[in-house]
Amino acid sequence: MQETEVIVAGAGPVGSVGAARLAAMGIDVIVCEAEATCAHDLRASTFHAATLEMLDEIDAAQPLIERGLKASVYQMRDRRTGEYLEFDLVELADRTRFPFRLQCEQHHMSTLLTERLPDMPNADVQFNTRVVAVEQDADGVTVTVETGGERRQLRTKFLIGADGAHSTVRKQIGVGFDGFTYDEKFLSLSTSFPIETVITDLAHVNYISDPDEWLVLLRVPALWRILVPADVDDSDELLTSDTRAAEVFERIVPGHHVETSHRTIYRVHQRVAESFARGRVMLIGDAAHLNNPLGGFGMNSGIHDAWNLADKLWKILRKGGDASLIDLFDRQRRHATREFIQAQTIANKAFIEQGPGESHRSRLDRMAAIHADPVRRRQYLLRQAMFESLEDAEKVQ
Ligand SMILES: Cc1cc2nc3c(=O)[nH]c(=O)nc-3n(C[C@H](O)[C@H](O)[C@H](O)COP(=O)(O)OP(=O)(O)OC[C@H]3O[C@@H](n4cnc5c(N)ncnc54)[C@H](O)[C@@H]3O)c2cc1C
Repeated sequence: MQETEVIVAGAGPVGSVGAARLAAMGIDVIVCEAEATCAHDLRASTFHAATLEMLDEIDAAQPLIERGLKASVYQMRDRRTGEYLEFDLVELADRTRFPFRLQCEQHHMSTLLTERLPDMPNADVQFNTRVVAVEQDADGVTVTVETGGERRQLRTKFLIGADGAHSTVRKQIGVGFDGFTYDEKFLSLSTSFPIETVITDLAHVNYISDPDEWLVLLRVPALWRILVPADVDDSDELLTSDTRAAEVFERIVPGHHVETSHRTIYRVHQRVAESFARGRVMLIGDAAHLNNPLGGFGMNSGIHDAWNLADKLWKILRKGGDASLIDLFDRQRRHATREFIQAQTIANKAFIEQGPGESHRSRLDRMAAIHADPVRRRQYLLRQAMFESLEDAEKVQ
């Protein structure tokens, strides 16, 4: 039976960073990925400054910057009046070497890291290898994997479940995943149509609020990505049809014919695992928490989980630390998830959809007051760039 120190289930953005960090620390690691390659999906495209600081330590920030687009300014716009506020992350240049949001599709990172790992003597990536069963004892974890219908077992001291929203690892260790699913679906479209030639005052990142149809317009190097709400009762087929895409774009750039490159429907959840660890098995990323994409925090916070956990495992495996470090990982990252990621994404959705509870004018006034006050504006930017949640979590003992 093949043995190692850590197995990571899943080579998504979170698992690939976790494995790369552990390998860089000299720990033996095997990544088991169910699919034949890293998924080329168009979900996350925003890397925040706090995450780029981490990725730089494993030499991944610069290659991503070369593949992406630096967005220092982001807009919060009112769809009906066209009024907007601009926040400029350049104001954090004294705090970070990366005072911008990096707009770059997530698959660039998982691909980059999983291509590098096999060159390291202590790392291995096994594609077409699905984790199907997990059994732990006092000394380690036996992981059953399946490749082309054949099953075999691997033995490890620790198992990290980075296997996404439907995590097999989470189910195998019997951890609950409470929360809720939003009533509407989210429709994601992408196009190479130059929207900026029609709406000429856009930034690269635009959150556009409206009670009927809020809108997110995000630029990645070759495309605009559009996110709008969609009726839960409409079929995915209808929502991704030519007619529906044309209707959405007619409201954004009237009179223009827009070809799309991708059309995807998502059901969106707010869920947190009841625990991020059971014994020698830990959960990170979407396996541990889900949130709406407004603010771009899901993958980023998963990478922060991976970073925190790698530090703890290194202390256990190399410095004689004990299992209480795993409990600390659980407390710190669940704190960051609940107090920041869940709270902020729920608030972002309430803001963008201008739902009940606060009038449209008072929402805008509240944001304008933050924007006008340099102290509050800096605090807000540190929060959005995810420095505050990291520092806050570190204080949890
Ligand atoms: C429209 C949209 C936009 C988003 N935008 C952003 C953004 O801008 N910024 C941001 O931070 N987040 C964003 N997110 C969230 C982000 O996409 C996710 O949080 C992120 O992909 C989670 O990464 P992960 O590695 O935990 O899981 P995943 O990306 O789901 O990867 C899990 C991996 O595990 C593999 N796997 C599954 N089961 C098994 C198994 N049993 N054995 C082995 N392997 C397995 C899968 O094949 C996959 O490769 C967005 C989400 C959506 C829907």
